Amino acid sequence: MELRFPFDPVEKSTEAESLVMKDKKRLYHRFRPAPYYGGIATADAIGCSFLCAYCWNYYRNLDPSRFESFYSSQQVASRLLNIARRKHFNLFRITGSEPILGEASFDHLIEVVKTIFKEKPHSVFILETNGFFLGWREDLIEKLKFQNLWVRVSLKGVDEGSFELITGARGEFFQYPLIALKELENQEIKAWPAIMRNLFTSEEITQLRGFIEKYGIKSQLEQETLEEYPLVIENLNKRKVLIKS
Ligand code: SF4
Repeated sequence: MELRFPFDPVEKSTEAESLVMKDKKRLYHRFRPAPYYGGIATADAIGCSFLCAYCWNYYRNLDPSRFESFYSSQQVASRLLNIARRKHFNLFRITGSEPILGEASFDHLIEVVKTIFKEKPHSVFILETNGFFLGWREDLIEKLKFQNLWVRVSLKGVDEGSFELITGARGEFFQYPLIALKELENQEIKAWPAIMRNLFTSEEITQLRGFIEKYGIKSQLEQETLEEYPLVIENLNKRKVLIKS
Protein backbone atom coordinates (compact mmCIF):
# COMPACT_ATOMS: atom_id res chain seq x y z
CA MET A 1 0.00 0.00 0.00
CA GLU A 2 1.61 3.27 -1.10
CA LEU A 3 1.03 5.98 1.47
CA ARG A 4 1.79 9.69 1.19
CA PHE A 5 1.54 11.89 4.29
CA PRO A 6 -0.77 13.54 5.07
CA PHE A 7 -3.45 11.20 3.71
CA ASP A 8 -7.23 11.22 3.55
CA PRO A 9 -8.43 8.86 6.35
CA VAL A 10 -11.71 8.16 4.53
CA GLU A 11 -9.76 6.72 1.60
CA LYS A 12 -7.38 4.90 3.92
CA SER A 13 -10.30 3.39 5.87
CA THR A 14 -11.95 2.18 2.67
CA GLU A 15 -8.72 0.71 1.33
CA ALA A 16 -7.87 -0.94 4.66
CA GLU A 17 -11.35 -2.44 4.93
CA SER A 18 -11.03 -3.92 1.42
CA LEU A 19 -7.83 -5.65 2.55
CA VAL A 20 -8.82 -6.84 6.02
CA MET A 21 -12.42 -7.98 5.39
CA LYS A 22 -13.25 -11.02 3.26
CA ASP A 23 -16.71 -12.68 3.25
CA LYS A 24 -17.60 -11.15 6.66
CA LYS A 25 -14.30 -12.46 8.09
CA ARG A 26 -11.62 -10.10 9.44
CA LEU A 27 -7.86 -10.31 9.44
CA TYR A 28 -6.40 -10.97 12.91
CA HIS A 29 -2.83 -11.34 14.05
CA ARG A 30 -3.30 -13.24 17.34
CA PHE A 31 -5.51 -13.87 20.41
CA ARG A 32 -4.08 -13.57 23.92
CA PRO A 33 -4.72 -12.82 27.59
CA ALA A 34 -3.42 -9.29 28.34
CA PRO A 35 -2.72 -7.67 31.73
CA TYR A 36 -4.41 -4.32 30.97
CA TYR A 37 -7.56 -3.27 32.91
CA GLY A 38 -6.64 -5.95 35.46
CA GLY A 39 -6.82 -8.78 32.88
CA ILE A 40 -8.61 -8.81 29.52
CA ALA A 41 -9.19 -11.33 26.71
CA THR A 42 -7.66 -9.62 23.68
CA ALA A 43 -7.85 -10.05 19.92
CA ASP A 44 -5.17 -8.26 17.90
CA ALA A 45 -6.68 -7.32 14.54
CA ILE A 46 -5.01 -5.67 11.55
CA GLY A 47 -5.99 -2.55 9.59
CA CYS A 48 -6.42 1.10 10.51
CA SER A 49 -7.70 4.40 9.14
CA PHE A 50 -4.64 6.13 10.66
CA LEU A 51 -0.95 5.25 10.80
CA CYS A 52 0.16 6.68 14.15
CA ALA A 53 3.86 7.28 14.65
CA TYR A 54 3.65 5.42 17.98
CA CYS A 55 1.60 2.43 16.76
CA TRP A 56 3.10 -0.84 18.02
CA ASN A 57 1.36 -2.59 15.10
CA TYR A 58 2.78 -0.09 12.56
CA TYR A 59 4.01 -2.38 9.79
CA ARG A 60 1.01 -4.72 9.87
CA ASN A 61 -1.30 -1.69 9.62
CA LEU A 62 0.87 -0.18 6.87
CA ASP A 63 0.53 -3.26 4.66
CA PRO A 64 -2.19 -5.72 5.71
CA SER A 65 -2.03 -7.45 2.32
CA ARG A 66 0.91 -9.59 3.55
CA PHE A 67 -1.34 -11.46 6.00
CA GLU A 68 -3.96 -14.14 5.42
CA SER A 69 -5.46 -15.19 8.75
CA PHE A 70 -9.13 -14.25 8.38
CA TYR A 71 -11.57 -15.16 11.19
CA SER A 72 -15.38 -15.08 11.32
CA SER A 73 -17.07 -13.22 14.19
CA GLN A 74 -18.04 -16.61 15.70
CA GLN A 75 -14.41 -17.80 15.59
CA VAL A 76 -13.17 -14.55 17.19
CA ALA A 77 -15.80 -14.68 19.96
CA SER A 78 -15.08 -18.35 20.62
CA ARG A 79 -11.32 -17.76 20.96
CA LEU A 80 -11.87 -14.79 23.27
CA LEU A 81 -14.39 -16.71 25.40
CA ASN A 82 -11.93 -19.59 25.75
CA ILE A 83 -9.23 -17.20 26.99
CA ALA A 84 -11.69 -15.60 29.43
CA ARG A 85 -12.76 -19.01 30.78
CA ARG A 86 -9.17 -20.17 31.22
CA LYS A 87 -7.99 -16.95 32.90
CA HIS A 88 -11.24 -16.09 34.75
CA PHE A 89 -11.47 -12.75 32.91
CA ASN A 90 -14.64 -10.74 32.57
CA LEU A 91 -13.35 -8.18 30.06
CA PHE A 92 -12.93 -8.35 26.28
CA ARG A 93 -11.41 -6.12 23.59
CA ILE A 94 -10.04 -5.92 20.05
CA THR A 95 -6.84 -3.91 19.73
CA GLY A 96 -3.76 -3.24 17.53
CA SER A 97 -6.01 -1.84 14.83
CA GLU A 98 -9.13 0.23 14.27
CA PRO A 99 -12.13 -2.10 14.77
CA ILE A 100 -14.41 0.15 12.66
CA LEU A 101 -13.19 0.91 9.15
CA GLY A 102 -16.51 0.75 7.32
CA GLU A 103 -19.83 -1.07 7.43
CA ALA A 104 -18.40 -4.57 6.89
CA SER A 105 -15.94 -4.33 9.80
CA PHE A 106 -18.61 -2.61 11.91
CA ASP A 107 -21.06 -5.49 11.33
CA HIS A 108 -18.30 -8.03 12.09
CA LEU A 109 -17.56 -6.24 15.39
CA ILE A 110 -21.25 -6.13 16.36
CA GLU A 111 -21.52 -9.90 15.78
CA VAL A 112 -18.43 -10.54 17.96
CA VAL A 113 -19.93 -8.40 20.74
CA LYS A 114 -23.39 -10.02 20.50
CA THR A 115 -21.93 -13.54 20.64
CA ILE A 116 -19.79 -12.71 23.68
CA PHE A 117 -22.72 -11.12 25.55
CA LYS A 118 -24.96 -14.08 24.69
CA GLU A 119 -22.44 -16.49 26.24
CA LYS A 120 -21.31 -14.23 29.08
CA PRO A 121 -24.06 -11.62 29.70
CA HIS A 122 -22.34 -9.94 32.67
CA SER A 123 -19.00 -9.34 30.97
CA VAL A 124 -17.76 -5.99 29.62
CA PHE A 125 -16.53 -5.33 26.08
CA ILE A 126 -14.20 -2.33 25.83
CA LEU A 127 -14.29 -0.92 22.31
CA GLU A 128 -10.92 0.77 21.78
CA THR A 129 -11.32 3.06 18.77
CA ASN A 130 -9.67 6.10 17.21
CA GLY A 131 -13.24 7.41 16.82
CA PHE A 132 -12.73 8.58 13.26
CA PHE A 133 -15.25 6.41 11.41
CA LEU A 134 -17.81 6.68 14.22
CA GLY A 135 -17.63 10.48 13.92
CA TRP A 136 -17.77 10.31 10.12
CA ARG A 137 -20.80 7.95 10.25
CA GLU A 138 -22.60 9.03 13.44
CA ASP A 139 -25.70 7.10 12.32
CA LEU A 140 -23.91 3.83 13.26
CA ILE A 141 -23.53 4.82 16.91
CA GLU A 142 -27.03 3.76 18.03
CA LYS A 143 -26.11 0.16 17.10
CA LEU A 144 -23.47 0.25 19.88
CA LYS A 145 -26.17 0.40 22.55
CA PHE A 146 -25.35 -2.67 24.61
CA GLN A 147 -25.58 -2.44 28.38
CA ASN A 148 -21.95 -3.45 28.95
CA LEU A 149 -20.17 -2.04 25.92
CA TRP A 150 -17.81 0.78 26.86
CA VAL A 151 -16.09 2.95 24.27
CA ARG A 152 -12.61 4.38 24.73
CA VAL A 153 -11.85 7.01 22.09
CA SER A 154 -8.15 7.70 21.55
CA LEU A 155 -7.82 11.35 20.48
CA LYS A 156 -4.24 11.27 19.11
CA GLY A 157 -3.72 15.06 18.99
CA VAL A 158 -4.58 18.22 20.92
CA ASP A 159 -5.22 20.21 17.73
CA GLU A 160 -5.19 19.80 13.94
CA GLY A 161 -1.39 20.13 13.70
CA SER A 162 -0.49 17.51 16.30
CA PHE A 163 -3.26 15.20 15.03
CA GLU A 164 -1.79 15.34 11.50
CA LEU A 165 1.79 14.86 12.71
CA ILE A 166 0.93 11.85 14.89
CA THR A 167 -1.72 10.03 12.83
CA GLY A 168 -0.45 10.87 9.33
CA ALA A 169 -4.07 11.80 8.43
CA ARG A 170 -4.96 15.32 7.29
CA GLY A 171 -5.49 17.76 10.17
CA GLU A 172 -8.94 18.84 9.03
CA PHE A 173 -10.26 15.43 10.25
CA PHE A 174 -9.21 16.14 13.87
CA GLN A 175 -12.75 16.85 15.06
CA TYR A 176 -14.38 13.55 14.00
CA PRO A 177 -13.38 11.57 17.13
CA LEU A 178 -14.87 14.43 19.20
CA ILE A 179 -18.09 14.28 17.15
CA ALA A 180 -18.18 10.53 17.91
CA LEU A 181 -17.72 11.13 21.64
CA LYS A 182 -20.46 13.75 21.75
CA GLU A 183 -22.91 11.44 19.98
CA LEU A 184 -21.93 8.47 22.17
CA GLU A 185 -22.77 10.61 25.23
CA ASN A 186 -26.02 11.78 23.60
CA GLN A 187 -26.98 8.12 23.14
CA GLU A 188 -26.04 7.44 26.81
CA ILE A 189 -23.32 4.96 25.85
CA LYS A 190 -20.46 4.87 28.36
CA ALA A 191 -17.52 6.47 26.54
CA TRP A 192 -14.44 8.53 27.38
CA PRO A 193 -11.51 10.21 25.58
CA ALA A 194 -7.87 9.17 25.99
CA ILE A 195 -4.59 10.83 24.99
CA MET A 196 -0.96 9.66 24.92
CA ARG A 197 0.33 12.06 27.56
CA ASN A 198 4.07 11.63 26.85
CA LEU A 199 3.74 13.37 23.47
CA PHE A 200 2.35 16.60 24.95
CA THR A 201 3.26 19.19 27.56
CA SER A 202 0.98 19.61 30.57
CA GLU A 203 -0.15 22.95 29.07
CA GLU A 204 -1.20 21.19 25.88
CA ILE A 205 -3.14 18.58 27.87
CA THR A 206 -4.89 21.38 29.77
CA GLN A 207 -5.71 23.08 26.45
CA LEU A 208 -7.22 19.79 25.18
CA ARG A 209 -9.31 19.41 28.34
CA GLY A 210 -10.71 22.91 27.78
CA PHE A 211 -11.46 22.10 24.15
CA ILE A 212 -13.24 18.85 25.11
CA GLU A 213 -15.34 20.75 27.67
CA LYS A 214 -16.27 23.44 25.14
CA TYR A 215 -17.35 20.67 22.81
CA GLY A 216 -19.87 19.66 25.47
CA ILE A 217 -18.20 16.33 26.28
CA LYS A 218 -18.59 15.52 29.97
CA SER A 219 -16.43 12.41 30.47
CA GLN A 220 -12.94 12.65 31.94
CA LEU A 221 -9.79 12.50 29.80
CA GLU A 222 -7.72 9.35 30.37
CA GLN A 223 -3.96 9.83 30.03
CA GLU A 224 -2.16 6.80 28.69
CA THR A 225 1.56 6.12 28.84
CA LEU A 226 3.75 5.46 25.84
CA GLU A 227 5.13 1.92 25.55
CA GLU A 228 8.70 2.67 24.47
CA TYR A 229 9.35 -0.35 22.22
CA PRO A 230 12.42 0.13 19.94
CA LEU A 231 10.12 0.13 16.88
CA VAL A 232 7.98 2.87 18.43
CA ILE A 233 10.99 5.07 19.23
CA GLU A 234 12.41 4.56 15.73
CA ASN A 235 9.11 5.56 14.06
CA LEU A 236 8.62 8.57 16.37
CA ASN A 237 12.09 9.78 15.35
CA LYS A 238 11.45 9.13 11.65
CA ARG A 239 8.16 11.03 11.81
CA LYS A 240 9.76 13.82 13.93
CA VAL A 241 7.30 13.38 16.82
CA LEU A 242 8.90 14.45 20.12
CA ILE A 243 8.49 12.79 23.51
CA LYS A 244 7.72 15.83 25.68
CA SER A 245 7.10 14.40 29.15
S1 SF4 B 1 -5.23 4.44 15.67
FE1 SF4 B 1 -4.34 2.86 16.98
S2 SF4 B 1 -4.16 1.06 15.67
FE2 SF4 B 1 -4.51 2.83 14.34
S3 SF4 B 1 -2.46 3.43 13.73
FE3 SF4 B 1 -3.06 4.65 15.51
S4 SF4 B 1 -2.23 3.53 17.28
FE4 SF4 B 1 -2.24 2.11 15.53
